[in-house]
Amino acid sequence: MLHENTAENRTEAPMSTRDESTSLAAAKIIYNLPFNDLLFRAQTVHRANFDPNAVQMSRLLSIKTGGCAEDCGYCSQSAHSPTGLKASKLMMVEKVLAEARKAKAEGATRYCMGAAWRSPKDRDMDTLLAMVAGVKGLGMETCMTLGMLSPAQAGALSKAGLDYYNHNIDTSEEFYSQIITTRTFADRLETLSNVREAGMKVCAGGILGMGETTGDRISMLVTLANLQPAPESVPINMLIPIPGSKLADADPVDPIEFVRTIALARILMPRTHVRLSAGRTQMSDEMQALCFFAGANSIFAGDTLLTTENPGEDHDTALFRRLGLKPMELEPAE
Ligand code: SF4
Repeated sequence: MLHENTAENRTEAPMSTRDESTSLAAAKIIYNLPFNDLLFRAQTVHRANFDPNAVQMSRLLSIKTGGCAEDCGYCSQSAHSPTGLKASKLMMVEKVLAEARKAKAEGATRYCMGAAWRSPKDRDMDTLLAMVAGVKGLGMETCMTLGMLSPAQAGALSKAGLDYYNHNIDTSEEFYSQIITTRTFADRLETLSNVREAGMKVCAGGILGMGETTGDRISMLVTLANLQPAPESVPINMLIPIPGSKLADADPVDPIEFVRTIALARILMPRTHVRLSAGRTQMSDEMQALCFFAGANSIFAGDTLLTTENPGEDHDTALFRRLGLKPMELEPAE
């Protein structure tokens, strides 16, 4: 029976670390622990590795919106879905830097720049490199998400000062082709490997609520935990169904299952920043509080994510005050 509070569950559910490979079977046992045992385990791992009351704050800017050649079923920016989103050109470097300065003044320590591309074109590389160098020069951590990268592109971005590259694996390998057909799960892993090879930190996570099974969610986390090393950041998104997209009518995720997934991510990847990403506007304050207790310790601050809503600064400030949370300081450069 699932969630049975047996002595076996309490004593034999394996305590994984990122340095050992994690099996799907072991992860399933952890995921299905009684909720209180699971949360206690996750909070214990969290406290051993992080300040439990500090949350890392990132800011995200869409530097090129819409008109994407890929057909990701969850996305408002795919040219394959009639979502009504207007495509824009790549932003000018100065405009991006002005936005980054504002975000820094408002307390963000990491600046993430996202472009709706299958992969960057070589003609855009100089502009992207100037953005990275400029944001880095402001004393912020830099992150980009631009689609697939060749080894040469990854190397150039790293050299310009890019700290993190975001490239989500989205879901399990088994479920992947139900959501995206224009690329494969293996393509994703290849870019992640190019990013690592180039010396950058990895931000990779996925989305819950696309019709996947619990097994798919667990499998996705096991894939991430078994990357060598595991990603430094793992964003967990809750699908916001976009009218006109393939997943417009997807059923919502059970909030308890969502919290279980966060807890499993924390246990399988003890030193990773687990980020509550898209979907926070749909979550109650109590659900967010449970996610923080389960080990989430990073959020996107600001009113919008790439194209979807995000709780505004005031709401987050009030929630942080009610929960006694504080923004995480930027770690000193190594
Ligand atoms: S998720 Fe990214 S790659 Fe997929 S359609 Fe949207 S912008 Fe394009």
